[in-house]
Amino acid sequence: MRECDVLIIGGGPAGLAAANETVKAGCKTILLDDAFKPGGQLVKQTHKFFGSEMEYAGVRGIWIADKLLENIKDNPLFKTYLRTTACGLYEDGIITALFEDSEYLKFKPKKLIIATGALEKTIPFPGNDLPGVYGAGAVQTLMNVYGVMPGNRGLMVGAGNIGLIVSYQLRQAGVDVTAVIEGMDHVGGYWVHASKIARLGIPIRTQTTILRTLGENRVTGAVVAQIDDNWQPLPDTEEHLECDFICLAVGLLPLVELLHLAECKMRYVSELGGDVPIRDWNMRTTNPDVYVAGDAGGIEEASSAIVEGAIAGISAAKAIGADLKGYETRKAKLIAELGELRCGPVGDHIRCGLAECTLEEEL
Ligand SMILES: Cc1cc2nc3c(=O)[nH]c(=O)nc-3n(C[C@H](O)[C@H](O)[C@H](O)COP(=O)(O)OP(=O)(O)OC[C@H]3O[C@@H](n4cnc5c(N)ncnc54)[C@H](O)[C@@H]3O)c2cc1C
Repeated sequence: MRECDVLIIGGGPAGLAAANETVKAGCKTILLDDAFKPGGQLVKQTHKFFGSEMEYAGVRGIWIADKLLENIKDNPLFKTYLRTTACGLYEDGIITALFEDSEYLKFKPKKLIIATGALEKTIPFPGNDLPGVYGAGAVQTLMNVYGVMPGNRGLMVGAGNIGLIVSYQLRQAGVDVTAVIEGMDHVGGYWVHASKIARLGIPIRTQTTILRTLGENRVTGAVVAQIDDNWQPLPDTEEHLECDFICLAVGLLPLVELLHLAECKMRYVSELGGDVPIRDWNMRTTNPDVYVAGDAGGIEEASSAIVEGAIAGISAAKAIGADLKGYETRKAKLIAELGELRCGPVGDHIRCGLAECTLEEEL
């Protein structure tokens, strides 16, 4: 049995930021991640991040994990288990995890921070199971982590930030992008990314969806059509597009299985991507020993994941009695920072979503 003050599940920006705070507060901290390298989504983000300078905007995603690990990696209070998937959570507070596909380990923390991130959504259409239909995250991993091109000519489905950024990265890797299609009547991602795509001559076609793939054993093309306001295909608008792979960038779903296992109260909040835990401003859930941070608590960005991770970290440390000088001031500053990240029209839907699952009183 491995005992610790705080166990953090997920080594993305949220989990790493939480670890910085718990270690700084003197807590024995263990971090688990199922990947072979810490960083979560960051390990494949070769672009310079947008967001807040305080959370490394302007730095390439692939370098941010190193920065977040800088101050803790050699601290004896900190231990990381990589290639370790947390899969069980029991009434007595014991967490089980599969280590390197070979051995089950048991952990007994005083407090648990769940920072498991998100899962890619997909959409149903005939042929979506053919080799050559990928999620955008898989394409990014192939290209940016393993140096493998997913094909020669792709169709991108989804014009949110992920669809736009991955289209740009495909072109950087020498892959043609036939078009970016988007079901909504507007581009969901930031204009700065859409403009870069437009400058490359890649058409972005709104109110357009994929009807089916072409090909027997692998993708050889796609049939797309324009749609009306009810997302129904308009007659006589079907078109065959040539491509040898299709990339789906149609949204992310918070990864909340462990929060369900911990019996945290959950609520479906469409603005945050799906089922999310009810929490307070300390990022504490309705299970008093469990905190949440980052995309697992609602799909946002790395900057807010970092700030939420820091709040969860100081709150968990405080709850187990760590002597945190200036705790209230620091917490207020972090909450204000979140407010700034979520202000303006871009943060509208996040603020609306959070209002549905964040309690003003402390849990
Ligand atoms: C293409 C793209 C571009 C982006 N660009 C930006 C940007 O420019 N600026 C910005 O601020 N944000 C950006 N983001 C968003 C940002 O990457 C995410 O919001 C952020 O990574 C979320 O952090 P997280 O720590 O919550 O989760 P993640 O980064 O997803 O990390 C979660 C980690 O937990 C691990 N895990 C999950 N379940 C388990 C388990 N059971 N056991 C062990 N480990 C587990 C996962 O494998 C993963 O390593 C981008 C995202 C994408 C896809």
